[in-house]
Amino acid sequence: MSYKFGTVTSPILLVGLFTAGIFSLDAWVVEESNLSFTYLLVIMLGLLFKERNDVVLLSVVATTLTVVAVIIRYINGSEAPLDQMLFARTLSVAGIWTGAYLVITILTMKRDESAQEEQFHALFRFATNGILVADHSGELVRVNPAAERLFGYETGELIGMKVEALIPQRLSRIHERHRNDFRANPRPRSMGTGLDLYALRKDGSEFPVEVSLSPFRTIQGEFVMAFIVDNTIRKENEQRIVRQNQKLEQLAVALQNLNEGLEEKVRDRTHELEQAKNDLATALAAEREIGELKSRFVSMASHEFRTPLSTVLSSAALISTYAERQDVENIKKHAARIKTAVNNLNTILTEFLSLGKLEEGKTEPKLQETNLPALIEDVHSEIKGMFRPGQIFEYHHDGQKTVQLDPALFKHVLFNLFSNAIKYSPENTVIRVYTKVSPADVLLRVVDQGMGIPKADQKHLFGRFFRAANATNVQGTGLGLYIVRRYVELMNGQIGFVSEEEKGTEFWVKLQC
Ligand code: ADP
Repeated sequence: MSYKFGTVTSPILLVGLFTAGIFSLDAWVVEESNLSFTYLLVIMLGLLFKERNDVVLLSVVATTLTVVAVIIRYINGSEAPLDQMLFARTLSVAGIWTGAYLVITILTMKRDESAQEEQFHALFRFATNGILVADHSGELVRVNPAAERLFGYETGELIGMKVEALIPQRLSRIHERHRNDFRANPRPRSMGTGLDLYALRKDGSEFPVEVSLSPFRTIQGEFVMAFIVDNTIRKENEQRIVRQNQKLEQLAVALQNLNEGLEEKVRDRTHELEQAKNDLATALAAEREIGELKSRFVSMASHEFRTPLSTVLSSAALISTYAERQDVENIKKHAARIKTAVNNLNTILTEFLSLGKLEEGKTEPKLQETNLPALIEDVHSEIKGMFRPGQIFEYHHDGQKTVQLDPALFKHVLFNLFSNAIKYSPENTVIRVYTKVSPADVLLRVVDQGMGIPKADQKHLFGRFFRAANATNVQGTGLGLYIVRRYVELMNGQIGFVSEEEKGTEFWVKLQC
């Protein structure tokens, strides 16, 4: 056991002196009385020691000295028997050891307390978070090194300063409100939860913090302990995350736009492709139609031109034969045949011309006041020569006579419908023509009792060069009705028919007024 001079030397000396004094008095000076109780005082001085073993040692020494003192007295001639004297000291020895027990207990408690204190100090000193303790007036009474480092102050510099010195001026009002709230309801909690808290360094710079407050009370008054965490890195990370999120959102929007753009492009391309496909199909159909038209034209032309031309040729040859014989009758007959053949050729050429003009878009209707019954009569007299024997032409008009139409185009329509009725009807039949003028429209009907049109052919009737299956023996080009329909449409009208094979056909034309 070694004691350093100046620290523990004095208690040891004191205890030594006391012990020696008590022992001397007990052994040699004070006769009769029992001084061993006074060792209790010495034991109490053991409170000055640090080690519990020292107290035990002291108690052993005190007990030993008590016994030794009795023995010395006995040797020096005390009258009382030794065992009685020793027994009388039993109580003091018990007192010594009770005292020792008490002192050791107190020393243990003190040691625990100081160990706790040390732990607390270590916690306070070595904590990585800033810890501030402020009294009720907001004055800082304890500050740990981490807090000093955080706020940029020298050791001990913050003690005595107000908490407000660590808060930016712009936030002082908010801080005051928080402090008042806290005073009204002091319990451990985070400060400004959900808010951005900032602290002020000594150099005037600010940094984000997170603060939790814990109130406590001691005999010196009320205090608040604040734990301060520097949030700079967390804030930076948060901002980085926010920036990355924004970038991600922008990217997502850009991607969506790109996607939409792509979808639109794909839609456009698909549309274009479909358009191209349709155009191609239309072109192909047109090509096919042209091909068909060509072949129909060739077969029609070879027949329709050759027939009248060969008629002209043979009749001309016969006429010269009959001329030698002076056979006027036959000459007249063949001259009439030549005339008819030429007329047919003329009709074909007229139709070709009309078709050409139509296809080139050169045909434009020229509307004018026209006397409808007069126009019908006009056409009737022109085609008189075409009638077959016994064919009768009947005409009936209803309503006012003058109408607005293109007389040239309408005459062509009439000529075609009448000549068809004649061509496709046998001898001794009636061809009836009706016209009706009403305020809304003009209606023309041409009704015959002819061969009619087969059902299967009806839907193609207005096509170019189309001829019904039952009409092949009758001279024609298949162009007439096509031209008629186009003319009627040019005059904003409609055309249609009803027909039954072997019974007859009715064509109707309706023009808007
Ligand atoms: P084309 O008379 O020169 O052959 P059109 O275009 O005038 O040509 O007529 C087309 C076809 O319609 C005719 O070939 C014929 O088969 C049919 N057709 C037209 N009018 C009648 C009618 N009145 N009766 C029966 N068939 C008709």
